[in-house]
Amino acid sequence: MNICIVGTGYVGLVTGACFAEMGNHVWCVDLDTEKIAGLKAGVMPIYEPGLKEMVIRNSQEGRLFFTSSLKEGLSDALFCFIAVGTPPQEDGAADLSAVQAVAQAIGKIVDQYLIVVNKSTVPVGTADLVKSIIRQELKARGMESLEVDVVSNPEFLKEGAAIEDFLRPDRVVIGSDNVRTLELMKRLYEPFVRNQNPIIGMDIRSAEITKYAANAMLALRISFINEIAGLCDAVGGDVAKVRLGIGTDSRIGMPFLYAGIGYGGSCFPKDVRELVTCGHRHGVPMNLVEMAHHVNERQKRYLLGLIDKRWGEDLSDKVFGIWGLAFKPQTDDMREAPSIIIINELVNRGATIKAFDPEAFEEAKKIFYCHGDKIQFSSNMLDAVQGVDSLMLLTEWHQFRQPNFTDLKQVMRQPIIFDGRNQYNPEQLQQLGFEYFCVGRNRYGK
Ligand code: NAD
Repeated sequence: MNICIVGTGYVGLVTGACFAEMGNHVWCVDLDTEKIAGLKAGVMPIYEPGLKEMVIRNSQEGRLFFTSSLKEGLSDALFCFIAVGTPPQEDGAADLSAVQAVAQAIGKIVDQYLIVVNKSTVPVGTADLVKSIIRQELKARGMESLEVDVVSNPEFLKEGAAIEDFLRPDRVVIGSDNVRTLELMKRLYEPFVRNQNPIIGMDIRSAEITKYAANAMLALRISFINEIAGLCDAVGGDVAKVRLGIGTDSRIGMPFLYAGIGYGGSCFPKDVRELVTCGHRHGVPMNLVEMAHHVNERQKRYLLGLIDKRWGEDLSDKVFGIWGLAFKPQTDDMREAPSIIIINELVNRGATIKAFDPEAFEEAKKIFYCHGDKIQFSSNMLDAVQGVDSLMLLTEWHQFRQPNFTDLKQVMRQPIIFDGRNQYNPEQLQQLGFEYFCVGRNRYGK
């Protein structure tokens, strides 16, 4: 099938590469000409495991193409996926200007039957909005009779495992009010659900809500366990044991019950806030979801509270070694990463930072540029802890999971670890002579 994908970011590029992998003919379109030039030369704009190999292979085999021209991308396309960004506005509502711009551009160009697929995460009613913008443009061109259908097909992939998630999704959700379009969409996705995972057809608005409900549910679980972790620290419990105690209940389950320094990234924070403002717009207070957001904002500062207790406000003679900057492992994405709040605060209190992340360097350099020589970027994890007063673990990349603590102790100025991802065993670290602070397991330090 012929497919056009508009927006070649984390979602658009993965979607395009995976559809090409199944034998489709795919054009990826992006306004960013530098990105397109890079992709044509095999240079990925993002880090995502397995993506580069897949993009290069499908380009070489003549199934995947890149262009800045929507006209070129749309020629012969049966499907046009909109996968542009929908960042939060000041009030938390999703900014739809890029989606609207794409809809308008499609309306000005399209000249044959087209299924427009909203892949971007967009508020309820956006499919109707996209349809009306396209119809307006068609009318202006005297082409009212041209059939253009709009469907909602939210994306549930996780950065860091995006290829795997797209190739083998738990489910595919398609919101459509047209039986023929739904059938065509199902045919497009059939190769991805050979394992019998479901393709769930539903009305458009339910599909639009499903994406927000899924992310809000996951955010709620994270904020819930983080609140319990705070209580554990206050009364002397161990959140890891509590997690085991509740997660083994089949009604509850284990996933997304890891205490830490809160969620970040381009999805949970913005989608939770959009759901709250959507509720307000429609007179439905989304109290639980709103609290998930507030708890998360507080949680990003959890380690700073522990540092306060250990050293007080003034950190002007302290050097912190930071392991991990990205909002989670296996990605270079720094959007809303807890590391941003933590590092900015440490530097504001006078500390010096030595930071290491396996992939997020370039992004991090842009963000922390303002701190000048108060932040140094190390080329490996051991260098980042040379002569530091404390190690802070902020992203749980695999290589941080089992370091040689004896080596660490030798090179650090003080053997103190603040672990924002609960990666280490508190008792073991205590035996090794470390002062160890984490989230919801601090009774061992008392
Ligand atoms: P991104 O910022 O990485 O990429 C968006 C791309 O769209 C950019 O390359 C930008 O240049 C391009 N673009 C913007 N306006 C354009 C236009 N008019 N024409 C052509 N290209 C244009 O965004 P992303 O992380 O891929 O997210 C895209 C959407 O998917 C968002 O709505 C997001 O919420 C949703 N989503 C993201 C994830 C994720 O893990 N990143 C997961 C599920 C859903």
